[in-house]
Amino acid sequence: MSRRARALVVLLTRFAALVVGGCLTVPVAAETARKPNIIIILADDAGYGDFGFQGSLEMRTPNIDRLAHEGTVYDAAYATTPFCSPSRAGLLTGRHPLRYGYEFNLTHDAPPGVDKAFMGLAAGELTIADRLKALGYRTIAVGKWHLGDQPQFHPNARGFDNFYGLLGGNSRYFPEAIKPGSLERNGTSVQARDYLTDDFAQEAVEQIEAAGDRPFLLYLSFTAPHTPMDAIAGDIARFGNIADPQRRRLAAMTWAMDRAVGRVMEELRARGLERDTLVVFTNDNGGDSVGLDADNRPLRGMKGTLLEGGIRVPMIVRFPDGTGAGQRAAQPVSLMDILPTALSLAGAAVPAGLDGQVLSPADVAQPERTFHWRYDTVAAMRQGPWKLLRFPDRPAQLYDLANDRGEAHDLAAQQPQRLAAMLRALFAWEGTVEYPRWHTGSFWSQEDVRRYAAEHIRAENAKAKASLSPEPPS
Ligand code: CA
Repeated sequence: MSRRARALVVLLTRFAALVVGGCLTVPVAAETARKPNIIIILADDAGYGDFGFQGSLEMRTPNIDRLAHEGTVYDAAYATTPFCSPSRAGLLTGRHPLRYGYEFNLTHDAPPGVDKAFMGLAAGELTIADRLKALGYRTIAVGKWHLGDQPQFHPNARGFDNFYGLLGGNSRYFPEAIKPGSLERNGTSVQARDYLTDDFAQEAVEQIEAAGDRPFLLYLSFTAPHTPMDAIAGDIARFGNIADPQRRRLAAMTWAMDRAVGRVMEELRARGLERDTLVVFTNDNGGDSVGLDADNRPLRGMKGTLLEGGIRVPMIVRFPDGTGAGQRAAQPVSLMDILPTALSLAGAAVPAGLDGQVLSPADVAQPERTFHWRYDTVAAMRQGPWKLLRFPDRPAQLYDLANDRGEAHDLAAQQPQRLAAMLRALFAWEGTVEYPRWHTGSFWSQEDVRRYAAEHIRAENAKAKASLSPEPPS
């Protein structure tokens, strides 16, 4: 539709709304003016390589793979931070969480000296739900929230008409094991009707139905496959081919999530909304290879680190008109891009002050774009293909991600000028962010350093081992 035709439709719809408002019931040509629905599906702690469309030979994800086939897969999509809570803040606001002091993960209890009233998404930040609600959308959140459990942080106070899920960061999955009072609908405690992942799918389907003819935003935020590793026996039994019991369990949890995605997509198809809906599937931070045995290969690092394995996540964007179907894009993008992309598709102007950019399936060239990260004592930056990592206690590292996405070859010593320039730029960016509103304490600071050290030793040992390997027989 041309810009002029769209403007005409908007005018006609406004006129029709006035007439309906005046109780003259005339049929409204709503369909032509309908804004696209927005569905954001978020996995939790999944491994970069733990999906069929990412090349896994163990995990089976046919429904998500189908989404990948129908959309664009971004190979270098970045979370803003390597932990759940601040990453979700970046996704839902389109702004870097450090801009509003959201550097640390949320813990259930306030750390010593911290007031819980500050632990959550800063009041001045608008969410994608706030912004789409203002455009007439019905706004639905299902699943894990993890952006604060005080009233001012509740999803219903942050733009969502309907919330079904948990305010915290994780949950058991079987209804009888879920902590009483942790699951709610709009502030009222409820019981899960099913295994939590399936329960969220059922709620999502019911909410799509309840939206009727209104365009909707559905933020479907699974707890899966975050620990605890509760899996359905029948799902585990499908993966007898996986020897490692932990990986088998992870495969079962991932299979359940895939089934849930399939149910939502089936509902869209049944309602003829496939072509009217933007569907994004992604993950909040790098795979948890400690608790879950998630596989981030070919990336190095894990949840909690700023190595690629901690911040680079699988991302599918299925555009409503089907453009970009089946393509893989190397262009680095951010979860912060989802908000401006959704607003743009909804016909709204992209507001100033965002860090995200509008994604377009037709534009997957690799522009020079700069990304920044900091978690506690470690910071990182990507500029074009170059990735800098800065530590408090060891030399900075520099990687060329275009040729070394596994961050195996530190080029810092070979590129001292680039290293110095990027360090200066990183410090300059840090000068623009806000002081953290809370801190998760020394345990995580130490654990963080331990994870980098373990990664470094693992990588060095692998190199040493490779150099000792005899030449393969010719
Ligand atoms: Ca997470």
